[in-house]
Amino acid sequence: MFLRTDTVPVRVGDLTIGGNNEVLIQSMCTTKTADVKATVAEILRLEEAGCQLVRVTVNNNEAADAIKEIKRQISIPLVADIHFDHRLALTAIKNGIDKVRINPGNIGKRDKVEAVVRACKERGIPIRIGVNAGSLEKHLLDKYGYPTPEAMVESALFHIGILEELDFRDIIVSLKASDVPMAIQAYTKAAASFKYPLHLGITESGTLYSGTIKSSAGLGALLAQGIGSTVRISLSADPVEEVKAARELLKVFGLISNAATLISCPTCGRLDIDLFTIANEVEDYIAKIKVPIKVSVLGCAVNGPGEAREADIGIAGARGEGMLFRYGEMIRKVPEAELLSELKKEIDIIVKHYELT
Ligand code: SF4
Repeated sequence: MFLRTDTVPVRVGDLTIGGNNEVLIQSMCTTKTADVKATVAEILRLEEAGCQLVRVTVNNNEAADAIKEIKRQISIPLVADIHFDHRLALTAIKNGIDKVRINPGNIGKRDKVEAVVRACKERGIPIRIGVNAGSLEKHLLDKYGYPTPEAMVESALFHIGILEELDFRDIIVSLKASDVPMAIQAYTKAAASFKYPLHLGITESGTLYSGTIKSSAGLGALLAQGIGSTVRISLSADPVEEVKAARELLKVFGLISNAATLISCPTCGRLDIDLFTIANEVEDYIAKIKVPIKVSVLGCAVNGPGEAREADIGIAGARGEGMLFRYGEMIRKVPEAELLSELKKEIDIIVKHYELT
């Protein structure tokens, strides 16, 4: 497990963000929040994929009113995304929201900020300050001329200052930019400037393929430095894909304990089995496994047995058949047609073993 930077822990529902806790995965609903049925259905799909907190837009009274019923039907913490209108925040808080994403400096008069902070304090609800390079305050654009990492951190400190003045410290901060180097610098400076946990994200990063690469480059550079307590991979795609990508990314850094990992070879001229099909089917099969097992799918006996030994369970292909390895030992040879089903059976046995121990 990579060492995390020192941050204060902040409670969100029954979870804790920051401190020594695991990096949590977030996503955001694409549905109209007022459409409770569609929103709950999407949240349940996200939760099944491994999403640990979910955000919904609260852009009108209908959305704020819907929070109550959505909360009744889901079990992961719900975050309200609010811009400017403090009354929507108050309604969402009254209706049981677990966290509010709002920038106190954009709410307006002091009494409105105080009302939101008071309501959050009464119910133990944290506030995420969401700095975005595309919507920096005018005084910072006047000072810096254009969005810079320094301007983004100053914006975060400006909003943090407003909350701290009101003795409110259940704060989480994000500093999103679509420019990856700028986001990396902003988050790195922020981690050195204050101890509130950071929610990582590259905003407007793109479609499933390009957005996953872009987000992984940015978030990976930060996670490798121990920066980041929660992540969202923003994609122009089904949000379930965001969660899947985030889980893969956290696996890379050993930052997730409830996910299975697939090791598969790129194949070469030595290959004698249909490895791509097997690898893709195994990947789908293990996507929902919540224990940290390693499964290897290798094309041949050259590197196969060596790699398979590193995994809990694995196969190495041969002509028309494959060898099945468990904890480094070859347990049997299986005809190619049965390789996938036999591997799945062995995976089930290992998962059950993990769950019992
Ligand atoms: Fe090629 Fe075998 Fe290596 Fe796969 S494991 S890349 S098939 S040599």
